[in-house]
Amino acid sequence: MGASMLRPFIMALAVFGLTACTAHSPTGRGQMLMYSPDDMRQMGAQSFAQIKQQETVSTNRQINTYVRCIADALTQPQHLAAIDPQQVEAWEVVVFESEQVNAFALPGGHIGVYTGLLEVAQTPDQLAAVMGHEIGHVLADHGNEQVSRGQMTNAGLQIAQIALGASGTANSDMIMAGLGLGAQVGILLPFGREQESESDVIGLELMARAGFDPAAAVTLWQNMAKASGSAPPELLSTHPSSQSRIADLQSRQGAAGQLYNQAKASGQRPNCRVPG
Ligand SMILES: [Zn+2]
Repeated sequence: MGASMLRPFIMALAVFGLTACTAHSPTGRGQMLMYSPDDMRQMGAQSFAQIKQQETVSTNRQINTYVRCIADALTQPQHLAAIDPQQVEAWEVVVFESEQVNAFALPGGHIGVYTGLLEVAQTPDQLAAVMGHEIGHVLADHGNEQVSRGQMTNAGLQIAQIALGASGTANSDMIMAGLGLGAQVGILLPFGREQESESDVIGLELMARAGFDPAAAVTLWQNMAKASGSAPPELLSTHPSSQSRIADLQSRQGAAGQLYNQAKASGQRPNCRVPG
């Protein structure tokens, strides 16, 4: 790259340096966030609307009540506030009629659960483990982090294209991928390992505070690993159920168990009925 081509690149970096905001995740990890909470809410709402158009929304009342019950228990304001002070107040929960073993949560408070997941997450506690993990991605601003990274990469590409005399624009696929929706739209760009383990930590805490048994998180990932024989669950393509993930969840059972016992003692006993 010659000096004349390098200049716009340096200018772009300077601009991003000014607009990027260095924040900290709930576990204290430094993050570079380039979008405002409003931007993220808008991206989350748009992506969720798009997915609702693409997928079949389940009208099964029992299943919807069940998934809603778990979401309500997990998203009680006091639990969310214990992890992230800037919380979402109203969470939208939609069940998709699909064999996909999958779930996700989006900025702005949108939770999607595929009916196929209920085959693997067989108890309320196990389903709470998956949903708590997905909510963890939202509480820790992972979508913002990913889209910001994507934007940096894309800015680099755009500058290269400008230098070459072509034009490049950000597209919705990039936003979807940034929000961890790679599997849904057929492009795989999962969250990073750091973000995954951070969401595991947050999810474990959230489920324990809500009165779900954190030991179920270990069982869930063991089930997931077993289910990965002939047809690997979609969730596994973005969430490797490695031995280290399971061991990590196991090593955190002591602290989570304490929170769980406190939650039960203070009356947090969600009663979500598994659909028959
Ligand atoms: Zn995840």
